[in-house]
Amino acid sequence: MLGWTKGLAFTLKNLTKEKVTYDYPNEPLPLPDRFRGIQKFYPDKCIVCNLCANICPTDCISLTGKANPDPEKKGKVIDTYDINFEICILCDLCTEVCPTEAIVMTNNFELAEYSRDELFKDKVWLDENDTSVRKENKV
Ligand code: SF4
Ligand code: SF4
Repeated sequence: MLGWTKGLAFTLKNLTKEKVTYDYPNEPLPLPDRFRGIQKFYPDKCIVCNLCANICPTDCISLTGKANPDPEKKGKVIDTYDINFEICILCDLCTEVCPTEAIVMTNNFELAEYSRDELFKDKVWLDENDTSVRKENKV
């Protein structure tokens, strides 16, 4: 009986305290500013310099480019851009080295899939991954 009373008293005392838990996944988790989450890709900003693919320690970026279809403009535009999230270690090197900030880290960490094949993300998926882009990385 004493234990029961102690337990009830503890519960009642803590009922009024500020919550330390989050209603995840209904509410996004607050994450630190420097959190390194799944990348967002801006295809229009990419100059196909290959720096991101070359610096990647796990070789998980593959990309192809083509000549700019606009005859007025020089250089290349991105054609395909894929990241294999089976082996990406979210180290941030690709975003650090990118000269145009075409690829940036986000606060999105949700990558659970039923099939490993779905961990290959393409240009369209990476472009649409913009729900948790940090405000300083938004265009
Ligand atoms: S975060 Fe690191 S491992 Fe992942 S794609 Fe970029 S450079 Fe490669
Ligand atoms: S480093 Fe940036 S600009 Fe260069 S290929 Fe990678 S994403 Fe494109």
